[in-house]
Amino acid sequence: MNILVLNCGSSSLKFQIIETDLELFEKNEDKQKAKGLIERIGSQSLVTYQATGKPAVKQATPLRDHRQALDHVIRWMISSEAQIPGIHSLADIHAVGHRVVHGAEHFTKSAVIDEQVIGGIEDCIGLAPLHNPANLKGIYAARELLGGGIPQVAVFDTSFHSTMPETSYLYALPYQLYRRHKIRRYGFHGTSHRYVAFRYRQLTGKTKEETNVITLHLGNGCSACAIKQGESFDTSMGMTPLEGLVMGTRGGDLDPSVIEFLAHKEGMSLSEIDALLNKQSGLLGLSGLTNDMRDLLDEEREHQDRRATLAIDIFAQRVKKYIGAYFAELGNVESIIFAGGIGENSPTVRRRILAGLEWLGVETDDNLNAKITGGKEGVISKESSRVKTFVIPTNEELLIARDTVRCVKDAPRRW
Ligand code: ADP
Repeated sequence: MNILVLNCGSSSLKFQIIETDLELFEKNEDKQKAKGLIERIGSQSLVTYQATGKPAVKQATPLRDHRQALDHVIRWMISSEAQIPGIHSLADIHAVGHRVVHGAEHFTKSAVIDEQVIGGIEDCIGLAPLHNPANLKGIYAARELLGGGIPQVAVFDTSFHSTMPETSYLYALPYQLYRRHKIRRYGFHGTSHRYVAFRYRQLTGKTKEETNVITLHLGNGCSACAIKQGESFDTSMGMTPLEGLVMGTRGGDLDPSVIEFLAHKEGMSLSEIDALLNKQSGLLGLSGLTNDMRDLLDEEREHQDRRATLAIDIFAQRVKKYIGAYFAELGNVESIIFAGGIGENSPTVRRRILAGLEWLGVETDDNLNAKITGGKEGVISKESSRVKTFVIPTNEELLIARDTVRCVKDAPRRW
C-alpha cells in the first residue's frame, strides 16, 4: 500500500510517501518513495519536494492555509514532473497516516479517524494548544482533498507511554487536580521510542518481554524512555514536552518556584515566562549562541568558547542523570539506545554522556563510536560490555505508515 504520511505544524507541513504492507514491514523492506516540506504556510511559503533518488526541487509560492499546501503537495505528487514510481493519480494513495501530538488518556493506540476520533483529538486541544489544532487542519484538508473513501489514521506521540504506571505518571500534587484536570505526565516522542525499541528487537532477536532498555531521543527536542518488557515504564517529558532533558531551546527540569521569582524580578507575564522556558532556554539559553548542537561543538573546537562547553556539559550530565535513574527503576538494563539528530550523529556527545558509567557495566568502544554517524546503525559498546550501547536512527514516518496499514487492515499490534 502507498501511504501518505502527514505531519502538520502550526505553519508547516511535512510529508512522505511510503510503500509498506504487513509483509514488507516484517522483512524491513518498506520503501520511502518521496518526501517534502512546506514552511511558512500563511505567507510566501517555501516548498521542498524530493522523489527518492532524484534531486530536491525547491520553490517559493504563496500558500494561504494547510488545505492549499496539501493541494500543492498532491498536484506535485501525481504530476509527470515528480515521476514517483506507482503514483499516477489520487487512486494510487491508499491511506493517510497523521502524526498527532497529544492523545492524552483518550488514545492508548493509533486509531482510524472518524467523527468520534476527531472529537477526541479536539478534547485534547487544552493540553496541546499549538499542536493538536494544526494536526486537525491536516486531517480536515486530507478529507476534503482526497475524499472520505481513503482511510485516515491518527498516530499519537503520547500513546506509547500510556503503559506507564501511576507511580511514573502522577505528579505529587493534590490528587483531585489529576481527577479534575488530568494534570499528569503523558510523555512525547512515543513514535520514536517505539520505533527504535522495535528495530532493536529486529536487530537482536529479542522478544517484547525480553526488551529492557533505555532509549534516548536526542534531537532538537530530547527525551529519555525507560522501556520494561517492551513497554514504556517511564519517560522524561511530562504533561508537555518541557520537562526532563536539556533541549535546543527548552531547559527541561526546573524548580517551579523560579516562575514566580522571575515574574516578580523581571516583571514578566506568565506567557512571557512560558516562551522563555520553551524558546529561549536549553542549549540556546546556556550558550547565548545557538540551539544547534553541531554549531556549539564547532564553537568549542574552534574558539574554546566556555559557555558552549558548559551548555554541552550540562546537556550530557542531564542525560547521564536520567540514565542513572532509569537503571534504578528498571533493574536489569540490557542496552542503551541513541537516536535523533544528536544521538545518531555525534560521537563526542555520546562519549560525554557515557563517560563514567563503566561501573554500571557500560563500556564504550571509542573506535566503533567514532564510526557510527550519518544514519548508520550499530553497536558502539565493547564486546565485554555487560550493557550494550546501540545507535539506531529513528524513523517516525515509517512507524506512522506501518501503523496506518495495521489499523486499516485491523491487524493485531505486535510492538
Ligand atoms: P528534530 O528534533 O527537530 O527532529 P533532529 O533530530 O534533526 O531535530 O536533531 C537536530 C539536532 O541534531 C541539532 O541540534 C543538530 O545540531 C544536531 N545534529 C545534527 N547533526 C549533527 C552532528 N553531526 N553532530 C552534532 N549534532 C548534530
